[in-house]
Amino acid sequence: MSAAAGQAGSGSSGRIVVVGSLNADLTIYCDRLPQPGETVHGNGFAVNPGGKSANQAVAAARLGGHVSLVGAVGEDPNGAMLEASVAGAGVDVSHVRTSSEPTGVAVIAVDARGENNIIISAGANGTLSPADVAGAADVLDGAAVVSLCLEVSTETVLAAAQAGHDAGATVLLNLSPYAEIPAALAGLADVLLVNAHEAAQFLGTPVPGANASVADWDGVRDQFARHGIQQVLMTLGSEGSVVLDSLAPAASRVTLVQATAVAAVDTTGAGDAFTGAVAVRLAAGDALADAAAFASVAAALATTRKGTQAAYPVAADVERRLR
Ligand code: ATP
Repeated sequence: MSAAAGQAGSGSSGRIVVVGSLNADLTIYCDRLPQPGETVHGNGFAVNPGGKSANQAVAAARLGGHVSLVGAVGEDPNGAMLEASVAGAGVDVSHVRTSSEPTGVAVIAVDARGENNIIISAGANGTLSPADVAGAADVLDGAAVVSLCLEVSTETVLAAAQAGHDAGATVLLNLSPYAEIPAALAGLADVLLVNAHEAAQFLGTPVPGANASVADWDGVRDQFARHGIQQVLMTLGSEGSVVLDSLAPAASRVTLVQATAVAAVDTTGAGDAFTGAVAVRLAAGDALADAAAFASVAAALATTRKGTQAAYPVAADVERRLR
């Protein structure tokens, strides 16, 4: 297996390669979400850069990571907007190519309580293929961390996971949006990132809440291990996160990470901020639990501003909060 999280070594920060999606988030704000067949009035509209992979790449770059993004956009204004946002954060976009398909979009409705409905149209993201992964060998070969999600095809994710593994990188797999994955992909993931809902779907059984005992969490860790997943970061929204690490000594296989107390105004994309921050710290050689503690602060700060990419903190913001 490739380098497990916490064994990256040197302390100098290695390259992070994010392979996956870029979407334009088209968001309508409304008092309540429409029922099927119903039309309701909205009270605001925004177009923002999004897509889980683009968000994760921006989060990592703003925190000081050395980041390359491998993806595809259409030859349209949304594609130009997305590329500008990601590049503006300092991400290398030399492997973001254009496609004859339109740029991916997420059509999002958000009601007054913050509940949302989201429909994603993959567009150009659906054209990202194992050939794109092969074409990014120059960055993948030297990667310390490869970060993946399920907004592009499974065969592309599998190819990227294999390339990361072969390069000796730590492969992070964010099981979102949830889909069943082949055992080969599970076997290539060094660290699985899931929320509680995704964890329950993956395991086929509910998972405990944030106030569960360490013994309960150890049982969940054991379930993941039986699926071939040795290291898991499970995010629990405002309740924090839990690190399940079957590679750690017995006494430290479960670490509960409290959420950082903030006045949250918009939790959209908090999970991507968390993932990007974990990638940065693992690329710098942190142990998994230390990376989760740092990411908890970064993700909490991301919720204190509206939007996703533009709301993500820079390293100095996180360090100030950690002092
Ligand atoms: P999304 O898909 O919206 O990005 P997610 O389900 O993947 O969300 P969450 O579990 O909601 O991710 O959040 C990720 C992390 O962000 C949490 O583990 C926590 O550290 C932090 N976080 C989220 N909401 C809050 C909050 N209200 N206050 C403090 N921290 C928060």
